[in-house]
Amino acid sequence: MKPRMLQLLRESRGLSQTALSKLSKVPQPTLSKVENGLGELDEERAQAVADALQYPLEAFEWSDEIFGFGSAAFHHRKQQSLGVTTLQRIHADVNLIRMRCARLMQGIEIEPRYRFPNFEVEEWGTPKDVARAVRATWKLPMGPIGNMVQVLENAGALVVRADMYSQRISAISTSVPGSPPLFILNEGLSADRERFTLAHELGHLVMHDLPTPPEDAEREADAFASEFLMPAAEIGPQLSRIDLAKAANLKRHWKVAMSALIRRARDLGRIDERRYTSLNVQISQKGWRKIEPVQVEHEQPTLIPQIIKMHHDVHDYDVQVLARLTGLYDAEYSERFGDHATSPLRIVR
Ligand SMILES: [Zn+2]
Repeated sequence: MKPRMLQLLRESRGLSQTALSKLSKVPQPTLSKVENGLGELDEERAQAVADALQYPLEAFEWSDEIFGFGSAAFHHRKQQSLGVTTLQRIHADVNLIRMRCARLMQGIEIEPRYRFPNFEVEEWGTPKDVARAVRATWKLPMGPIGNMVQVLENAGALVVRADMYSQRISAISTSVPGSPPLFILNEGLSADRERFTLAHELGHLVMHDLPTPPEDAEREADAFASEFLMPAAEIGPQLSRIDLAKAANLKRHWKVAMSALIRRARDLGRIDERRYTSLNVQISQKGWRKIEPVQVEHEQPTLIPQIIKMHHDVHDYDVQVLARLTGLYDAEYSERFGDHATSPLRIVR
């Protein structure tokens, strides 16, 4: 057992050493020694630990690099502070999802339509300018971004949804040299929220290669996302005299939240502060802070499903093989990666 893998797999289940000790009947001091690289488990105890954590034994032998939240590899859009245990668990999951994706991609070549650029804000002017530059570099048509997930996948990124155990976090993106950027969305977000979150994370990826003070980084990523999804030059005139009915119509077209449209109208000087406040009061009174009336359809990632289909069709792998490859038991593999044996093949060659 690799000490750090044991720790990571344990944390991914949200268990302390004491809790794992109770479940596996392996004394806590023994677990502590193993996690610190000061001891080994015999076969029987190793199996007991693996069973308690519900992972196949092979997963404990992985020697992939593990990245910390403090490292430049991670960007996360945090709503409010999260508890330490939850944060540890998310951190473990993100690392594991990255490792699983890397294994799924072994032996598969993806030719992205375009690449992720690195545009320093200072060089380009403002996050808004960077957003325009990315749209231009990727030759995206004017108007709304039809499918945000597809835009990222066309650049070779992977997008997955995962339970993050708290509604306080929307998404995490990671970018590790040598593997495709990975965008992990928290489950249960509305589609318009997902799109804004992905655009925000894209902003980090493009602009924040170098360490940036967190507050600046968040502000810049939001400004990037606003311009990327709602280009000022195009949307500006449409936002004049916006009211709730108009916001609902614009939401259908631009696929961004009504609240985001109203904020955009204020930021672009199309409505004054008083009207902005009044619209927000109306939104709250109608209970639209939580659920807005117009629903945007969720965008489905297609890259991982295609990779999995390729494993089925070309490599003749079945679910059992893919589950072992990704360090999971069959049931959890199917839950996380679904059955993609029948999904259409498109980008992967
Ligand atoms: Zn952020």
